[in-house]
Amino acid sequence: EDAVLRAENLSVSFPIPRGALRRTGRLTAVSEVSLALAPGEVLGLVGESGSGKSTTGRALLRLVEPDSGTILLRGTDFTALRGDRLRRARRHVQMVFQDPYSSLDPSMVVAESLGEPLHVHERLTRAQRHERVRELLRLVGLAPQHLERYPYEFSGGQRQRLAIARALATGPDVLVCDEAVSALDVSTQNQIINLLERLRTDLGTAYLFISHDLSVLRRLAQRVAVMYLGGIVEQGPAERVYTAPAHPYTRALLSAVPVPDPAHRDRHRTIPAGDPPDPAAPPGGCPFHPRCAFAMDVCRTERPAETPVLGGGTVRCHLHTSGPGLGGNPLPDPD
Ligand code: SF4
Ligand code: MG
Repeated sequence: EDAVLRAENLSVSFPIPRGALRRTGRLTAVSEVSLALAPGEVLGLVGESGSGKSTTGRALLRLVEPDSGTILLRGTDFTALRGDRLRRARRHVQMVFQDPYSSLDPSMVVAESLGEPLHVHERLTRAQRHERVRELLRLVGLAPQHLERYPYEFSGGQRQRLAIARALATGPDVLVCDEAVSALDVSTQNQIINLLERLRTDLGTAYLFISHDLSVLRRLAQRVAVMYLGGIVEQGPAERVYTAPAHPYTRALLSAVPVPDPAHRDRHRTIPAGDPPDPAAPPGGCPFHPRCAFAMDVCRTERPAETPVLGGGTVRCHLHTSGPGLGGNPLPDPD
């Protein structure tokens, strides 16, 4: 096993709240997602809001329970762990959220917030813990004398550095970063991306970097997986995905224009062809067909199989099995 984290056929569903008039009682948020991270590798996971990216990230840490599928963490079946063994294994995979307050308790000073995971996972004296917290602060570019300060005393970018430091406290092999830079202004975003890149080089940490914005992933990701309505529709080496997107949805994401979005302070990319469909009533066939400029008859009835793409990776699109993209050819422009 060369992957530090591997998920196979991961599916997650949630009960639909009572009172909603639906045919089924559950909503499929993630459907048979498979992905793998090599040590020190950055995999970008991209898609619109509601595509299942965050749920995938949370399921990998078992913050939500998958319905089915397997998660291997350093070769061990992470899905089978319970109680104490699950808690101990979590030191190897940690999460960084968009909102730093999801990881930082506003009522705790830095020494406590960053010292807490060390307390849970290691038997250290108070003095040893403080020394480790000072090291963590240095690691993320903050002055070590900040120990007795509260989160509100820091800027947004500094708070995200603290959240990253807390996530690194247990020496994880993998960080799941969920929109970790989305709430920051562009220059702070760049600083945090530089920091993550440096940490990857220095510590060998692998990242699953979740973002709605492909341009944010560009500097960081070696591979990219694109999610639509709970499933991966395309994945492959970043260079190939950016220069020769095989799926019409990936292509639409790449050409999408930024529009203001209150949920993401800076900007949000949206594709022109309308809103994503309701995940509680997903379209049959290819889930993208109601919005696709290339849709053919077969797209309305048959779910496309996973097909290899020239230049690396795979795609789920009938264009590559029976249409003009056959054999990994670049797609023509829609008329
Ligand atoms: Fe478009 Fe058909 Fe490909 Fe789906 S399978 S992305 S509808 S061309
Ligand atoms: Mg999300």
